[in-house]
Amino acid sequence: MTALSALPTCEQRKTAVDNARHCVMALRLSLDRVTGSLARLCQSAEGGLSAGLDARQVAAFELAWASADMLAAESMLGSLDLTRNDFETALGLVFVVDAIVAIMERLDSIVLDLDERDQTSALRADERFLALRRLATAAATLEAVGVGVAETDGELGGSLISNDNLAVQDSVRRLAADVVAPLAEKIHRHDLTVPENILAGLRDIGAFGLAIPEAFGGTAQQSEDDTQRMLVVTEALSEASLGAAGSLITRPEILCRALLAGGTAEQKAHWLPLIARGEILCAISITEPDYGSDVASLGLRATRVDGGWHLNGAKTWCTFAGKAHLLMVVARTDPDRSLGHRGLSLMLVEKSSDDGHAFEFRQPAGGRLVGRAIPTIGYRGMHSFDLGFEDFFVPDANVIGALDGIGRGFYFTMSGMVGGRIQTSARACGVMRAALRAAIRYTSDRRVFGASLQSYALTRAKLARMGARFAACRTLSHAVARLIDQGRGRMEASLVKLLACRSAEIVAREALQLHGGMGYAEETPVSRYFVDARVLSIFEGAEETLALKVVARSLMEEALDLGAEVA
Ligand SMILES: Cc1cc2nc3c(=O)[nH]c(=O)nc-3n(C[C@H](O)[C@H](O)[C@H](O)COP(=O)(O)OP(=O)(O)OC[C@H]3O[C@@H](n4cnc5c(N)ncnc54)[C@H](O)[C@@H]3O)c2cc1C
Repeated sequence: MTALSALPTCEQRKTAVDNARHCVMALRLSLDRVTGSLARLCQSAEGGLSAGLDARQVAAFELAWASADMLAAESMLGSLDLTRNDFETALGLVFVVDAIVAIMERLDSIVLDLDERDQTSALRADERFLALRRLATAAATLEAVGVGVAETDGELGGSLISNDNLAVQDSVRRLAADVVAPLAEKIHRHDLTVPENILAGLRDIGAFGLAIPEAFGGTAQQSEDDTQRMLVVTEALSEASLGAAGSLITRPEILCRALLAGGTAEQKAHWLPLIARGEILCAISITEPDYGSDVASLGLRATRVDGGWHLNGAKTWCTFAGKAHLLMVVARTDPDRSLGHRGLSLMLVEKSSDDGHAFEFRQPAGGRLVGRAIPTIGYRGMHSFDLGFEDFFVPDANVIGALDGIGRGFYFTMSGMVGGRIQTSARACGVMRAALRAAIRYTSDRRVFGASLQSYALTRAKLARMGARFAACRTLSHAVARLIDQGRGRMEASLVKLLACRSAEIVAREALQLHGGMGYAEETPVSRYFVDARVLSIFEGAEETLALKVVARSLMEEALDLGAEVA
């Protein structure tokens, strides 16, 4: 009997999917009930959530993660086509069952914290759950699914991709394989700057204009395929290199969405075509030495001068600031700190492009901007810079939204971040796919104790879970992309970012582990995937901040609006 023949039969699959739907629906009710209870506990007498949420951070964090697993399980179940492929159904069920178990654990810990009645013991004892678990994650099934994952070579979770975007994916994968992949290791190991031929390749395929409407020279057609197209391009490039290719598109993505949300007609007409053509490269400068997650407290000083503003102070972690010609900088235009985020504006800082690890840019009237690249363990190619501004002049025309934009920089930045976050889930999927494929290849070639490493049940079970996680993240990102193109999905973009970035770490960790000692060698690409994956949960909203301040908060606000007291 081959391992694949241990996949569930058609009848078993149908029953298992029915059972999975039953369990997920039951768990959804429990999760909604617990969300309502937590929301009511966190709500202050005045109706706000902030202080109460901080007092219940541990429960709120668990809630965000349970919700991420829940949405991924629902989207995975929704994407299963029982008539099509027994392997894909079995793979989907592996993720769903693991998600159900994880959600139950999280609900248990929230309920303990809230001193609420138990929510999961009925489901744990439910015969349908037990049957589902016995079938979907039995050792023999995992083994069979692992064999199937190896056969796909990482072609998983793409069922929601449109035919047009599949064609785009093919051509970008070719570019990534021909141009990016041969340079990726050298750039990483020698901490080089992204070379011109990679930038030229991206310009040729219009990668810098993916978020820009055609009217402004970009490729976005304002259809339901736009965000998905951005995801497939990002993923294909990130698979070859996160630092030297896939992440190049994040900067225009954020800047263009901020410009589209708040820019004047002149600003859009001037900047968007230049960015779309990749004629000017851009960088995003939000983080400061004292404030990262706490964006509302940012303090880079903008002082009013004739015809514009003088910037003075420090920023940090500005990725690609050296090579970029244009920096999107969040600055405090109102010195009254009590205004919080309402005192912030968005400025476009123009400078010359510089290839080095340090640069100095002087303006004719004496303004100065200096940058120094921060040495990092991974994510190399663009370099992330400490920046110092000294009387740096920004004309009024470069304040996003001009006069109307003063004090609205926070909102424009957040509009940009929605695009940045969903895009980062695709970056995570790219790294996951690279790690998974490396693990598939290595375990097929490597022999241990006289047999192929891939012939062992444990290796196959690992490949099954890595593949299932990758497929689930990919499926959910594409479902959220649809929402975004319908003008929704702000919270979901954070949620899928959370899940995909942590999953990239898990998958890269397992891939490295399967390489044994060679996984720890710098010369093995999987060691790069591992260090690159680690950064994903830090930027575009650190994991804790996103989970607490965006996901849990939105879920609780929604629960209160919907009258959670009925639960
Ligand atoms: C390689 C790299 C590239 C980057 N590129 C850019 C870029 O191009 N532009 C840019 O502007 N920034 C960039 N960043 C910065 C990044 O966005 C910040 O590091 C991130 O927002 C976190 O801010 P911080 O480092 O100040 O951490 P902090 O805000 O100090 O947070 C430290 C830890 O505390 C947690 N935390 C924060 N608040 C709370 C809370 N209320 N309760 C509990 N826990 C909390 C955080 O989640 C984190 O784990 C980059 C960072 C890295 C590492």
